[in-house]
Amino acid sequence: MTKKVFENDPYIKEYTAEVISTKIINGSTWVKLDQTIFYPEGGGQPSDLGFIDGKPVLDVQIIDSEIVHKIDGSIDKNRVKLAIDFERRFDHMQQHTGQHLLSAVWQQLYGIETLSFHLGKDVCTIDLATSELDTEKIRSVELKLAQYIFENRRIESYLLPYEEVDQEYLSKLKETPQVVRIVEIEGVNTSACCGTHVTMLGELGLLKIIGWEKYKQNVRLSFISGGRAFAYFQEIFIAINEVSKKLNIAPSLVTERFPMFYERHQDLKKNYQNLYEKEIHYEAADLINQKKNNLIEHSWEDRPLQEMKDLAKIIIEAGDKVVIFQNKSQKTWIFAASSSQLFNVSKCIQTLKEHFGGKGGGNSVFGQWIGTIDESHWLEYKNNLLNT
Ligand SMILES: [Zn+2]
Repeated sequence: MTKKVFENDPYIKEYTAEVISTKIINGSTWVKLDQTIFYPEGGGQPSDLGFIDGKPVLDVQIIDSEIVHKIDGSIDKNRVKLAIDFERRFDHMQQHTGQHLLSAVWQQLYGIETLSFHLGKDVCTIDLATSELDTEKIRSVELKLAQYIFENRRIESYLLPYEEVDQEYLSKLKETPQVVRIVEIEGVNTSACCGTHVTMLGELGLLKIIGWEKYKQNVRLSFISGGRAFAYFQEIFIAINEVSKKLNIAPSLVTERFPMFYERHQDLKKNYQNLYEKEIHYEAADLINQKKNNLIEHSWEDRPLQEMKDLAKIIIEAGDKVVIFQNKSQKTWIFAASSSQLFNVSKCIQTLKEHFGGKGGGNSVFGQWIGTIDESHWLEYKNNLLNT
């Protein structure tokens, strides 16, 4: 059985070990050592990464009750140097310890049990045995978390024979080991756990709940601790600062004032939409009146395509109309017709694609084509198209 060095001291970054065996499975080398500082995936915590004898460690698992290290390359030595990616490990220690503390506080304040834990790449989650949460509860839990972290309580871990372990810590164990590893946050919580933890709560720095949602019959709560919480705060601070600068108010006033700015923005948008509708209807009427026949043809050097489409739609709704609009700088054409008997748009676009390439599509009464036609050809083709 490989000695788990990380259980006694999770802060060891480098170590030396004897190779017990190596095995090739599906082209990958898996190494068994006499002792290891690599934590294998388990208990919601991902495995450590790093190097064994300079070869990258890609995965660490427990297979048939043995810790095995998947490496990139091969090893032909008996004695090897181990080095873990300690930045990753310490992050996992912070998140994992954070979970112990968070679960303990939910239990302590509201009697809510934690059903599962997931340590994600960016965010961690726990599923709480409750159907709903509110901001008041979140706030009081966060205050309690901060209090324990500021008190810098100690976290101890030790092994106890199975028979001596309190029944309540055993309920979540899947098997019956001879000894059980107990993790105890001084005066807060005791649980059975194999993961890696920090030794003082102060090392978490900060534990922040960042969201919650209903998940099946329970609530899934997202949180981050330590370095992740710090980076999150920096990011949010920059965002709030930007907003406060744009709104010309202090960052602390954003929550209070933002709804007013948002409402004003919505009103302006609505007013703009009304004006736009009026304006575009006037313009459509103007274009119709300017032409003696039913072909409404117009080109712009540049104009938003959406406006051109809106205009075309209004014109063809008037009935008995064919629209050909051109946006010169975007080389885009809008074709529309009140009916396909009058002018078949998809056929027109098909013909243009055949003769001039480009791309486009649409249905029999409305479509768009992007491409180039020279002016003299265009006149000839237009007449042909209108006749077809
Ligand atoms: Zn743990």
